[in-house]
Amino acid sequence: MKKYKIVLLSGDGIGPEISDVSKKVLKELSKNHNFDIEIIEKLFGGIAYEKYGTPSPDETIDQCKKSDAVLLACVGDIKYDSLARELRPESGLLKLRSALNLFANIRPVKVRKSLLDASTLKKEIVEHVDLIVVRELIGGIYFGKPRGHITNTKIPKAFNTMVYDSAEIERITEIAIKIANQRNKKICSVDKSNVLEVSQLWRDTVLNITSKDKNISLSNIYVDNAAMQLVRDPGQFDVILTSNLFGDILSDLAAMLTGSIGMLPSASLNNNGPGVFEPVHGSAPDIAGKNIANPIAMLLSASMMLKIGLNEEEAAENLETAIDKVLSKGFRTADIADGSSEVLSCSEIGDKIMDEI
Ligand code: NAD
Repeated sequence: MKKYKIVLLSGDGIGPEISDVSKKVLKELSKNHNFDIEIIEKLFGGIAYEKYGTPSPDETIDQCKKSDAVLLACVGDIKYDSLARELRPESGLLKLRSALNLFANIRPVKVRKSLLDASTLKKEIVEHVDLIVVRELIGGIYFGKPRGHITNTKIPKAFNTMVYDSAEIERITEIAIKIANQRNKKICSVDKSNVLEVSQLWRDTVLNITSKDKNISLSNIYVDNAAMQLVRDPGQFDVILTSNLFGDILSDLAAMLTGSIGMLPSASLNNNGPGVFEPVHGSAPDIAGKNIANPIAMLLSASMMLKIGLNEEEAAENLETAIDKVLSKGFRTADIADGSSEVLSCSEIGDKIMDEI
């Protein structure tokens, strides 16, 4: 029997509630699909700061490095916003990404048929949306040096540096090619090469690498046009490949095509070693502790973990089918409910999904 060791970071806010559902579901899937999954729980985020004075204790990071995959719920709370930047829960996330060298962030955006009406866009615009944003995660302007404040000027000044070398662009392009080859083989690379030198290098490198794979059809668009096209005709996209800053903005925009942040998973990967699988949403402090959060984004992240991280494709399919069945029967959490749905709590919808597995 295959054995996996995963680290579960429940984090803050609604994290423990949605993690409970994920734990139960993973255990059930392991029974049905004949694998053994050891779930090691570690403190991370605000809760780790409370106990250890740091959001990302070394012990947590070491355990993550030794695992087959990491499943993370969410971190953060307004009460930590006044802490020094390096002590805030969100800094823990950056440390984890760096420590595991997670250079590729993968965010699938698929509109589930039963939730077509949940989008703020017209049904006919979103019904064919099934795209993946591949975002470079540990380079570009968020990490570029020099950066800082200039204080000896008449008015305050601050600056950052957007920098990539071709090796960083090559490795994220290779990930996009791999993903595109499992789909419709279309990559749209997004940059701002009409203005930025770093984007010109991005465009040239992406062209160079993708031209080696004759199956791939590549298009390039500027980031401002990409934002417009994502709202005008999102169904045209298959794989969107882009840099850290542009990906941060576009992936949130794309995410909202589906209508609810409570439905969106993501994976952060490197070429070897464990990936981190986590919902797109934050810790939702406004609803924490009420058992009303939507656990599906975390369950879909667990599904990505099963598929990409553990190669348990059938278990992942089983989970996604179970989620679709529950939604098509009209069971919803409050965030995705419409007039005709039966509104369930976080744990209740988890139980319904368990029943379908
Ligand atoms: P948020 O995603 O936590 O919440 C935004 C809105 O969506 C809220 O109204 C919330 O109730 C709702 N929501 C989010 N997830 C939901 C779910 N699963 N089910 C139902 N409703 C859901 O974003 P925010 O309010 O801007 O941030 C709250 C905290 O989370 C902040 O401290 C922020 O820094 C942190 N954060 C963490 C992550 C992460 O852990 N990866 C990501 C984003 C924000």
